[in-house]
Amino acid sequence: MRGPIYDVLIFGTGLAGLRAALEISMRTRGAANIGLVSKVQVMRSHSVCAEGGTGAVMRPEEGDTLELHAWDTVKGSDFLADQDVVDRFVEAAPNEIRLLEHWGVPWSRREDGRIMQRPFGGHSFPRACMAADKTGFFEMQALYDTLQKYTNCTRYDECFVTSLLLDDGRFAGLTVYDLPTGEFLVLRAKALLIGSGGLGNLYGFTTYSQTVTGDGQAIAYRAGLALEDPEFLQFHPTGLVPSGILMTEGCRGEGGYLRNNRGERFMEKYAPKMMELAPRDIVSRSEMTEILEGRGFRGAEGLDSIELDLTHLGGERINKRLPLIREVCMKFLGIDPIARPIPIRPVAHYSMGGIEADIDGRTRVENIWAAGEVACHSLHGANRLGCNSTAECLVWGGIAGSGIAKYLETRPTPAEASERKLGDEEGRIFAGLLEQRGTENPSQIRRELRTLMDKHAGVYRNGKSMQEGLDKIAELKQCAKQIEVADKSRIYNTNLVQTLETENMLGLAEVLLTAGLKREESRGAHARTDFPARDDQRFLAHTMAYWAAGAPEIKYKPVTITNWKPVERKY
Ligand SMILES: Cc1cc2nc3c(=O)[nH]c(=O)nc-3n(C[C@H](O)[C@H](O)[C@H](O)COP(=O)(O)OP(=O)(O)OC[C@H]3O[C@@H](n4cnc5c(N)ncnc54)[C@H](O)[C@@H]3O)c2cc1C
Repeated sequence: MRGPIYDVLIFGTGLAGLRAALEISMRTRGAANIGLVSKVQVMRSHSVCAEGGTGAVMRPEEGDTLELHAWDTVKGSDFLADQDVVDRFVEAAPNEIRLLEHWGVPWSRREDGRIMQRPFGGHSFPRACMAADKTGFFEMQALYDTLQKYTNCTRYDECFVTSLLLDDGRFAGLTVYDLPTGEFLVLRAKALLIGSGGLGNLYGFTTYSQTVTGDGQAIAYRAGLALEDPEFLQFHPTGLVPSGILMTEGCRGEGGYLRNNRGERFMEKYAPKMMELAPRDIVSRSEMTEILEGRGFRGAEGLDSIELDLTHLGGERINKRLPLIREVCMKFLGIDPIARPIPIRPVAHYSMGGIEADIDGRTRVENIWAAGEVACHSLHGANRLGCNSTAECLVWGGIAGSGIAKYLETRPTPAEASERKLGDEEGRIFAGLLEQRGTENPSQIRRELRTLMDKHAGVYRNGKSMQEGLDKIAELKQCAKQIEVADKSRIYNTNLVQTLETENMLGLAEVLLTAGLKREESRGAHARTDFPARDDQRFLAHTMAYWAAGAPEIKYKPVTITNWKPVERKY
């Protein structure tokens, strides 16, 4: 069997993957052999783009409490979060900040030297620990640097995972296309952590790096794992028009305003108490309502906008707290936010759903864990609060890492990866896809898919439109059978990778819309104009999507409610 056998494979090297690698290394004192697999170089994982901050309760003496963080998260989730999971999260998050402090993150500081925290949407206390507006970059760097102390990790950078092999219900191996060498490998291990990030590129107008295509979700789904709550896709209220680059919520945390074309701070109509710092689902809907009712600014290609106004904050504050935002606005639009408002609109930003994983990060396969955006621990429910995601990556990177280290103590034997399955997968890709003749090209299919998702699975949805979206996806799936990969070489074939990603994206788009169509209510980020009310009677439940021939099979499982019964959300 080609390829080595590790104790642990970590699929994805963003915040979740690196944090888990560190936990396993620390707990085993560097004895566990870890393979780190990433389709890009480690420091190109999307986590480096995180801007605004990481949420945790750091100031009990100034009035913040774990209970308040938990309540904000549960209310923000539109009551779809599992409340035991939320408790575990808020308890663990402060220690993650302290660990990062020890590992060298250059936090922004208050006058008294303590870590600076700024207000973020839906949080009733300033909770976002920040390193200016480049928080993710510095967190990644600190994890990466600290990992250098250990010699037990082998890196597989620019290696694309194509499938997950199971043997008798246990994880056996990952099949991997090694781009620089052109080889096709199977990497085996006793345990697997999936930390492969989100799926933002299902949409055309998105904050995500081009590489974020949901491969991990699609691969796990095809292997029989459930995707939980896939219809809940977050739209961030402030995507730069027309590129979609994120203008961090920190802009509003620092005091920025949102204005319509009449100069009104319209949030006072929708969330009079929290205004611009209401949760993202509410702010995004408010912006869309303003735009649909003609109070937006006209933009090209249907991208009408709202203004994000920072001009009253002054140059000094913007340069100190939001330097990246200023740089991006100047480079991409020629606008200096010190002097002029920024054109923004809601933008596809985050996937609340993902591979079903329990409170310990375990999936239903005994030796597979999932952490970070790819996973659904039922923490964010129907709507995630800003700065809770990087915190989640760190918390469950740590929890899953520790669970894996304990599992290794039981001396498990690696499962067999069958030579036949490896051969089938290699054949599918190299003899099949690469050699196949056809008339379609993957970029075109991808472009059409992203446009249709913008249109049919946006901030506001309805049954008719989602069904049209599904019909178009069915057509695109037929087209995908006719793809011809133009580049025929084996080495560094980005054309081939794009084809594999496009297949993954088509599968996930179908799951998202199928689950959305079945959920006949509005909750959090899933806002249906034909079912505008939340329906706790029928849908206070997590969606579970399973792969099945034909169409995804949808089931539901209960939400864990411990402290708070659902009530109407008002901000
Ligand atoms: C612009 C932006 C700003 C954000 N700002 C914040 C913020 O301020 N605060 C906050 O809490 N959250 C923020 N978020 C969200 C948060 O950053 C992400 O949810 C989080 O960083 C995801 O980390 P991750 O470890 O799960 O995955 P990622 O960092 O996305 O890493 C995924 C890894 O998986 C690998 N991978 C994927 N597919 C394959 C494959 N087929 N084969 C091999 N490897 C693969 C990738 O190479 C990569 O290493 C932001 C997101 C964006 C896009």
